[in-house]
Amino acid sequence: MNLLSQLIAIIYPPRCHICGRFLSADEDRASSHHLCDDCLGALTPITHPICTVCGLPFSTPKGQDHPCENCLRKKPWYDSVRAPYLYSGPLMEAIQRFKYSSETQLTSSLGTLLSSFAKELVPNPQDFLTVPVPLHTRRLRERGFSQSLLLAKVVATDLGTQLDYRSLIRIRHTRAQTGLRKEERRKNVKDAFSVTYPEIIKGRKILLVDDVFTTGYTLNECARSLKKSGATVIICLTLARTLVD
Ligand SMILES: [Zn+2]
Ligand SMILES: [Zn+2]
Repeated sequence: MNLLSQLIAIIYPPRCHICGRFLSADEDRASSHHLCDDCLGALTPITHPICTVCGLPFSTPKGQDHPCENCLRKKPWYDSVRAPYLYSGPLMEAIQRFKYSSETQLTSSLGTLLSSFAKELVPNPQDFLTVPVPLHTRRLRERGFSQSLLLAKVVATDLGTQLDYRSLIRIRHTRAQTGLRKEERRKNVKDAFSVTYPEIIKGRKILLVDDVFTTGYTLNECARSLKKSGATVIICLTLARTLVD
């Protein structure tokens, strides 16, 4: 630590980005995500066996990963979705604050949790193009930032992949998926996305990044546009996922 960072640490001692408590020296040294041990311990990692396609964790703790009934019945456009944690507890609160209260200082913490997971998961990440799930320009103006782009930037930097936030766009302003019933959610995002630069997407493997997986309709619609433009493989990464769709 140089003198300047020592001075900054005295004036502004590092705090946990989720709960705000001061980090101990050990926690600060160990934590690239600026989270305290209590908040890290309260995260609920998703454990195997899971669906090999949509990543749904099965209730039985035994057995191998395999496709779930939904994915067998109708194969999604994406190849797989993976999330490190369940959407619950302090992580759910942090994601909601990140998204709806513009607490963008959470970017590095949440982004690092996702990129550490992605490093273990994605072989040869340099072959992939990282693409965030886009917001419509109207929503972007209201919110002022895109949470999936902020996460995708951290993932792309940490994995050494190219970031592309221009090719996939949202062409239809849609209602927020929150509060909609399942069938309404599917209709709400139908044909909502388009690829403006198919020549960039053609023949590429894609890491598609979003904050939370719920029904998967949004990711599936994005994946449909990307596959129709010639993407070869689509791995979706979300920070958290719900248990029921
Ligand atoms: Zn904390
Ligand atoms: Zn599945």
